[in-house]
Amino acid sequence: MAEAQIIDGKALAQSLRETLRTEVGELNRHGITPGLATVLVGEDPASQTYVRMKGRACEELGMASRSLVLPKDTPESQLLDTVAKLNEDPAIHGILVQLPLPPQIETQRVIETISPSKDVDGFHPETLGRLLAAPRASDMPAFVPCTPAGVVELIKSTGTTIEGKHAVVIGRSQIVGKPVAVLLTAENATVTVCHSRTTNMPSFTRDADILVVAAGQPRLLTAEMVKPGAIVIDVGTNRVDGKLVGDVVFDEVRRVAGFLTPVPGGVGPMTITMLLRNTVRSAQAGAPKDLS
Ligand code: NAD
Repeated sequence: MAEAQIIDGKALAQSLRETLRTEVGELNRHGITPGLATVLVGEDPASQTYVRMKGRACEELGMASRSLVLPKDTPESQLLDTVAKLNEDPAIHGILVQLPLPPQIETQRVIETISPSKDVDGFHPETLGRLLAAPRASDMPAFVPCTPAGVVELIKSTGTTIEGKHAVVIGRSQIVGKPVAVLLTAENATVTVCHSRTTNMPSFTRDADILVVAAGQPRLLTAEMVKPGAIVIDVGTNRVDGKLVGDVVFDEVRRVAGFLTPVPGGVGPMTITMLLRNTVRSAQAGAPKDLS
């Protein structure tokens, strides 16, 4: 059997960003510049990189980015005040608080302080509730969590119909696994969710037409766990010997799968693109009707 087709997340992200660039230009002509605020607490190097990448991606599209950096011993109340001010700021259409946060800060409280109208990460319980309540994919709220939204776009880019397929999602986190399962259900897939307590996981994965792996465990998905021709989306980002790897044993799974995302260059670029898209949607929602 031929090797899997590698899904180029970077190229897909780039083409979606070109569409967004046009939409931003249209907003600019009406005096609106979509603005994203990123808030970073502390000096975690990976978080600094993510925040920098998001800021740069905004500027490349003609959007405004405001980066706020607070010391790692910032009290929770100060972070909540910062978020509250951004909620009120009309130049800001999206607020992203970079996770993880230091231990003195309760993450959920911060997420719930972000106004749902600026929740471009899509983590607020109101946003997640609307996601669950949507009967069909076309009824999804304006903000869908970025990584799950990117996963669905990557699957669609293969040209495969999702409806009626068996999709297996490995991972049940609030930010990846669970929303991916909800989105694929709304796309009319039959969805199985596997997690750390699943017994005999290969019996599920071997039956999957679509496999989304989001466990954060390098070398978790091996070739014998994959049905020939399956679409495999590797969400995992793990550092092994200084190298970025996914959860999939890439070199062996590519010999079995029909389509496979690489790490890096698969889900990562799509996540940032979905963040940009959510921010543009937020700016459009506040724009005059003929623009939104
Ligand atoms: P998490 O740690 O919150 O959740 C991991 C999930 O995987 C849990 O539900 C757990 O039950 C399951 N799991 C763990 N080990 C397992 C095993 N051996 N077998 C089956 N299930 C197992 O992680 P998360 O935030 O959901 O992220 C998952 C991975 O995706 C991480 O590597 C993370 O870095 C990556 N990630 C990448 C992006 C991106 O943009 N590329 C975005 C978000 C997360």
